[in-house]
Amino acid sequence: MTVRVRIAPSPTGNLHIGTTRTALFNYLFAKKHGGQFILRVEDTDKARSQQSYTDNILSGLQQLGLHWDEGPGVEGPHGPYFQSERSDIYRQYLQQLLDQGLIYPCFCNPEELQAERAAAEASGQTYVYSGKWRDANPAEVQELLDAQTPHTFRLKVPAKEVVFNDLIRGEIRFDTRTIGDMIVARQGLEPLYNFAVVVDDITMQISHVLRGEDHISNTPKQILIYEALGATPPIFGHTAMMLAPDRSKLSKRHGATAVGAYLEMGYLPEALVNYLALLGWSPPEGQEILSLDELVAAFSLESVSKSGAVFDVEKLKWVNGQWLRRLSAEDLWQRLQPVLQTAGIPTDSHSQDWWLQSLALVQEKMNLLPDYLKEADFLFAAPDLSAEAVGKAFGMASAQPVLQALHSSLQDMPWEADALHTAFEALKQNQPFKMKEIMWPIRAALTGRTAGADLQQSILLLGREACLARLQQALNTLAQTAAT
Ligand code: GLU
Repeated sequence: MTVRVRIAPSPTGNLHIGTTRTALFNYLFAKKHGGQFILRVEDTDKARSQQSYTDNILSGLQQLGLHWDEGPGVEGPHGPYFQSERSDIYRQYLQQLLDQGLIYPCFCNPEELQAERAAAEASGQTYVYSGKWRDANPAEVQELLDAQTPHTFRLKVPAKEVVFNDLIRGEIRFDTRTIGDMIVARQGLEPLYNFAVVVDDITMQISHVLRGEDHISNTPKQILIYEALGATPPIFGHTAMMLAPDRSKLSKRHGATAVGAYLEMGYLPEALVNYLALLGWSPPEGQEILSLDELVAAFSLESVSKSGAVFDVEKLKWVNGQWLRRLSAEDLWQRLQPVLQTAGIPTDSHSQDWWLQSLALVQEKMNLLPDYLKEADFLFAAPDLSAEAVGKAFGMASAQPVLQALHSSLQDMPWEADALHTAFEALKQNQPFKMKEIMWPIRAALTGRTAGADLQQSILLLGREACLARLQQALNTLAQTAAT
């Protein structure tokens, strides 16, 4: 069997991390089995669908590398790939069912149905449509149709058990008597959601439907439609929902849920994909940092869990840090461009080589792209000498003599690593202080902190002029403090 799977987002919001995980599992399953991954946009809810959401979903999936084999922009033989452009196809299938007498018009008005529902609920029963118009007199039905009496179309649902073998959850059974003759289309043969999905999955030759378990109650209804249409249903698999750390349904109140928001915060696409794959799936070898290609190779639906997966942003951050550390300096440099631009730091202020060295200086300490600005802030602005850490370092008896000595040796030293190393060795030998008493004041004067990136490399990147100015500023501050 050729594996053909699909992701079918509704453009009623920006690309959600839950949808993305479903898309990813479909993608991995397709690629693992040499199949195709199809993207279909379910934009029939005109009131809530927006072009900007469609754009956001398509570009988000692309940024994550989840490229579709057929879908918007990648026309294939089963298009169009927007539900809003497929009305004629749906109508044709509905007409077929109508001609076969498998669907029928129902003229119950909303008040009547509401009263039936209320009565059922009052007696503690699940509401199921009475089937009032199922066997109505054809002449009467025709008369009402001719008079344009408002109606819907209902499927004749046989009383039976629908059984399907869910790839993730095992055998699932539904009694169709709890479903009843469901509405499949509005007046004018306008399809309802479940009908459109089934026709799309048939005509797009979908072999497996992998989606969130929030759709599980749709599955028996869809199977009944397949059966009415004489089509074989695909194989279904329902993944557990993504949960918040308190195991409630993940929502905006727990933090960002849109992929775009994470990319903006400085998460890498590779890390997002990697982390989302780990939610509800465990790599067999236990190795957690995997590229998309490595995920394809390692993925199997058998190891997808039935229980809800907790979205843990701290773990995501850790995965991101791992990915950031793997990037070459050149790659990291490219990805940092938007961050620098947003921060208003002009990149033409230094040579490419300087930038690459500055990245190498702090790369190990970064978990998110903007961490560069936090760790390397001292390269772009003079430190705040009134900071508490600075005060502590400047309170050391070593501060004044050490800073003075360094100021002298930096004045005409060749500006390169060996010479700086020698200058530091001389400081250590000539000053009667412990390592910490030498290093803290220097670091504080130059960077405003007492810990951070490699100090000598930081000095080289800062440049002679900035170092001398900062050391002088620090000496002035010390002199003022001493005088007061
Ligand atoms: N459009 C549905 C959604 O966004 C997906 C339908 C399906 O996968 O069958 O949740």
